[in-house]
Amino acid sequence: MRAGHALVLFSGGQDSTTCLAWALEHFAHVETVGFDYGQRHGVEMQARLAVLEALPRQFPQWQARLGADHVLDLAVLGQVSDSALTRDKAIALGAAGLPNTFVPGRNLLFFQLAAALGYRRGLRTLVGGMCETDYSGYPDCRDDTLKALQAALSLGMGQSFTIETPLMWLDKENTWALAHALGGDALVRLIVERTHTCYEGERSTLHAWGYGCGTCPACALRQLGHTRWSANQNA
Ligand code: ZN
Repeated sequence: MRAGHALVLFSGGQDSTTCLAWALEHFAHVETVGFDYGQRHGVEMQARLAVLEALPRQFPQWQARLGADHVLDLAVLGQVSDSALTRDKAIALGAAGLPNTFVPGRNLLFFQLAAALGYRRGLRTLVGGMCETDYSGYPDCRDDTLKALQAALSLGMGQSFTIETPLMWLDKENTWALAHALGGDALVRLIVERTHTCYEGERSTLHAWGYGCGTCPACALRQLGHTRWSANQNA
């Protein structure tokens, strides 16, 4: 275990929950930060709280390491974006080939605010669930972008910050596998039952891979990854 302190960008989804478990396994003290930017579905904010309640209860080895949760109000994003996540629009591909769930540069802002919070709280490692592999075309999820941002944050704050992205080179099948390696069947079950990924905010039916509509891009990736991971588990 590392001695350091980490701040996890935590949305209540599968990826950031896996990152939180990863951080709890590797760091002595872990805090979480979420951003409330008028997401269409309050479901995400509820999923955050459900995961934060269940993790320390089900994994006593992580309990003492899990510190404060912070939620920052980012309603300002609603004023600068016209995205399907913040307005009541259908999800589709926009003119640039990016899904219209894209809020331009959102992760840059998230990390900058996380670094400012981390500066105050003594948390110099920032952990995010960005991934190039199941990549929807978001340029602010790229490894190169985040390496440049890490350098900019360290220079601009006069403190050395490290951005850790444990999922960067994993596909969704391997993200399920990482969760299993970190917390076994119990963590996989917690992710299935409590996290939320679906763009439609659908939570009426529990599938083997979790709640969701089953057809939006986020559900499709989550479902495919779980199906492949399960098949390998049973092989
Ligand atoms: Zn969905």
